[in-house]
Amino acid sequence: DWVIVTRQLTRQYDMGGEIVRALRGVDLAIRRNEYVAIMGPSGSGKSTLMNLIGCLDTPNGGEYWLNGMLVSTMSDDQLARVRNKEIGFVFQTFNLLPRASALQNVELPLVYAGVSAEERKKRATEALERVQLGQRMHHRPNELSGGQRQRVAIARALVNRPSILLADEPTGNLDSQTSSEIMRVFDELSREGQTVVMVTHEPDIAANARRVVVLRDGVIASDERRNQFVERV
Ligand code: ADP
Ligand code: ADP
Repeated sequence: DWVIVTRQLTRQYDMGGEIVRALRGVDLAIRRNEYVAIMGPSGSGKSTLMNLIGCLDTPNGGEYWLNGMLVSTMSDDQLARVRNKEIGFVFQTFNLLPRASALQNVELPLVYAGVSAEERKKRATEALERVQLGQRMHHRPNELSGGQRQRVAIARALVNRPSILLADEPTGNLDSQTSSEIMRVFDELSREGQTVVMVTHEPDIAANARRVVVLRDGVIASDERRNQFVERV
């Protein structure tokens, strides 16, 4: 039940002759239902690793298996197909359509996937209920709190039933109480079997995950599991 397996993953950028080695050999294996925070100082390679895990970019070396599929050698078209099916993205800025209701926002990925209107509504409603927003489905983003907006974005990321929920600084725009509400949502989702991978530079946020991977200079400096969910307010 390994969802993510990387072996000696490397990524470098050529800046007009000067090579920047952003990842220098990352070995990482993540199982289904893990809840992992990726931490590290600015420039340590978090975004680069996130882009590779999220099938937005391909490595220069090493291998990446996603659900047993070797994705590190896929073409851009194949990669896009895998990304749409397997990855649900959550961002710091919620990226919701301002004039659309919560339900319409969550339905959007299913519109692109060609799912029927009836089925879309059913699945979007289920996704909103999973993040405890069943009572706010017809509200627009500006009628919702920051935490509720991020929960709409999480529901949207989940509606295609991706194997990985990938969150990039998901609490960057939220106060600490609202952040811990979002961390609680991730914790519950992971306990229901959803793989959650979150990038954050905030130790207090990372402490909510059950596993913390720290990057330094493009390699994994530490990788620790914890069992207890710590309520932080
Ligand atoms: P983090 O997300 O931890 O801040 P990044 O993955 O963004 O780290 O960056 C790792 C290193 O790679 C840094 O030195 C950064 O400047 C460099 N880098 C990242 N993306 C690019 C890019 N597209 N082109 C050139 N250098 C990059
Ligand atoms: P974060 O705040 O998530 O660490 P960054 O500010 O490091 O992100 O990078 C934002 C975007 O710019 C990313 O897509 C990254 O790949 C790119 N990037 C980072 N450093 C460089 C760089 N030196 N040259 C070009 N692009 C870069």
